[in-house]
Amino acid sequence: MAIKKQYAVIGLGRFGTSIARRLHEAGQEVLGIDIDEEKVEDALAYVTEGVISDSTEEKALSSLDITNFDCVIVAIGDDIQASILTCMLLKNLGIQKIIAKAIGKRHGQVLEAIGVDLIIYPERDMGERVANHLLSPNTLDY
Ligand code: ATP
Repeated sequence: MAIKKQYAVIGLGRFGTSIARRLHEAGQEVLGIDIDEEKVEDALAYVTEGVISDSTEEKALSSLDITNFDCVIVAIGDDIQASILTCMLLKNLGIQKIIAKAIGKRHGQVLEAIGVDLIIYPERDMGERVANHLLSPNTLDY
């Protein structure tokens, strides 16, 4: 099993949920945060702790004590403003590693300018993975 680390996942949609679930399955400590009470309740089965909070509120974010976490994943996509603001606040808090989802090129460029460590473009990255899989010599023809 991997060394136990502390992760926070902000935004418990499909993307954030799969990250949180997998990390939790692997025995990692996962704090799940969402503005939507229902999303947090649904996530309680696969997070160590769930918190209802608006990550764009500086006070709310700093009260969560996530500065000591190894990695914070910002899985907010549609609300670009909320995603950017959250990443900026996390950066100001001095979070060691920030990973964020971008829904498009412009969104990604802003996240990069803020200093987000890893930017994920779910559809683009998944498309590339599928193509690489098809091109792999071990893949049988369909
Ligand atoms: P996915 O494509 O991963 O399913 P989604 O379509 O549910 O995502 P997104 O807009 O990407 O929608 O939001 C992901 C999650 O982030 C949602 O559950 C939403 O409630 C949450 N969220 C949005 N804004 C905030 C915020 N300011 N603070 C905390 N959580 C937020």
